[in-house]
Amino acid sequence: MIKLQGIAVSSGVTIGEALVLDAEGFRIPRRFVARSAVDTELERLSTAIGDTTREIERNRDAIRAELGQQYAAIFDAHLAMLHDERLQAELVSAVRDKNLWPEYAVSRTLRRYAKAFQNLDNHIAQRAHDIYDIEKSLLRNLLGQRSETLAAVSQPVIVLAHNLTPSETAKLDRRFVQGFATELGGPGSHTAIVAEGLEIPAVVGIGPFLSDVSGGEPVILDGNQGVVILQPDEETIARYRLEVEAARTAAVNLGRLRDLPAETIDGVRIRIHGNIEFPNEVEQCIRRGCDGIGLYRTEFLYLTSPREPTEEDHFAAYSEVVRAMGGKPVVIRTLDLGADKMLTETTPEEERNPCLGLRSIRLSLRQLPMFRTQLRAILRASALGDVRVMFPLISTIVELRQARMVLADVMEDLAEHGIAFNRDMQVGMMVETPAAAVMLDTFVGDVDFVSIGTNDLIQYTLAVDRGNKEVADLYNACDPAVLRLLKRSVQTAKEANVPANVCGQMSGSVMYTQLLLGMGLEQLSVPASAIPEVKQLCRSVSLEECRAIAERVLEMDSAQQVKSFLRDQLRRVLAQTVA
Ligand code: PEP
Ligand code: MG
Repeated sequence: MIKLQGIAVSSGVTIGEALVLDAEGFRIPRRFVARSAVDTELERLSTAIGDTTREIERNRDAIRAELGQQYAAIFDAHLAMLHDERLQAELVSAVRDKNLWPEYAVSRTLRRYAKAFQNLDNHIAQRAHDIYDIEKSLLRNLLGQRSETLAAVSQPVIVLAHNLTPSETAKLDRRFVQGFATELGGPGSHTAIVAEGLEIPAVVGIGPFLSDVSGGEPVILDGNQGVVILQPDEETIARYRLEVEAARTAAVNLGRLRDLPAETIDGVRIRIHGNIEFPNEVEQCIRRGCDGIGLYRTEFLYLTSPREPTEEDHFAAYSEVVRAMGGKPVVIRTLDLGADKMLTETTPEEERNPCLGLRSIRLSLRQLPMFRTQLRAILRASALGDVRVMFPLISTIVELRQARMVLADVMEDLAEHGIAFNRDMQVGMMVETPAAAVMLDTFVGDVDFVSIGTNDLIQYTLAVDRGNKEVADLYNACDPAVLRLLKRSVQTAKEANVPANVCGQMSGSVMYTQLLLGMGLEQLSVPASAIPEVKQLCRSVSLEECRAIAERVLEMDSAQQVKSFLRDQLRRVLAQTVA
């Protein structure tokens, strides 16, 4: 049994079979082919060898033209290895005589060769890399592209990967992917956020572990504690089965809160809105009794589409959400592409610091046709219900005003063509840069509401990449610097009579609910899965107590102190709720 500790990013416990993806693709499970399929499988192997040969030849020719034969010789050596008679005979025999799946035969045989080289002296050991290259290339040709393979998953699995991008995560098939764990990844990454949206238990930032596991073996993934257990023993499996059962019962109990308001003991009504990435998540929010959609991350429309979405694609997605919400507010955030939500077409050159680069509203203001297309669709959807638009990553008043000008211009366009929209649609901005928090008093006159994005606010305040596991311990919502900016933003909005919301992941964790209410927030926007728990907590506390808690916390000077105090306060409330 091997117990691994990572960062818990999406709750839930699951037990299943491992599907392993390393940096390049699949770690191949030991599988056999039926006798009747041996000829077809040998043909597949031979095609893959042919494709790999052509690939290497193409690379060789290109390098020869550019740098000369001296460098092209490396590829000749690859070709010689690939066509080595003994190697080929071993591969064929593994499939024909041992009935091994060609992928497994390739992986096993080439890794054995590579290991043999690695055991030799330094100079020759280098050749092991060449063999791994050949193995990867053969596997790529046998398996097709990694994304296609992920999409083809058709039985329940727990995906174990070096890394998953947000768009790969978004495309995971929830019917079969029970959970995932990755070597890389940080607590605030969009991969984590999408996992939570899809309600797939997930653990990230484990560090290297894939070499300890082969596909098909049993795995326990505990997304509550950030733990992954490889080769679990019977006793551990039984213990986790009980946990899965208990979670099911708890979810049924919380389900009873659906139609009850999130009202504090002293009668203050808190609005709990849902965060979504895809239209179909609305159903989960409604089922858990949300008061609206507080953050619709529309960039996922781009990240999951093979081509640039048209105005009709945008409109279809937005109208589905607005109709489903039946008159309740829907805050549509304009595109927040960039950083870890990359689109290669829009960012042709590699950025050295993508979080500080051309992302979000900056990108939208630079790509006006794309921005206008989205705004037209949002405005058209505003004729169908209570649609509000929100601009992300505002850091200067100029950006906010420019965005508003584009919006006004698009409105004129629609009016000229007699297309229906709500001229009084509310316009808001996200407060997710320290600049916005500090200067909020100058922004509030230009907006109808603000929403505090703590995920980015933490990242930019503490200079900690939210997706980097190496600095995950520094990424902390309890940091006093973050809390002061948060408090200051809430207060500024309140003084200007502008409603404020928090829509970062922090608002979905019950550890912070009392603090946020105590700071004066009356609206929280949380992932669908967190709605029942947050609602229950609101119903278990008084605003007076929350204010006292916020006051104490804002006097503290270390994140550690804040964290342990908030933990105690949560424990106290939960104990009272159970009692
Ligand atoms: C945030 O930054 O807190 C936020 C809600 O936006 P995103 O997580 O999409 O960057
Ligand atoms: Mg953000």
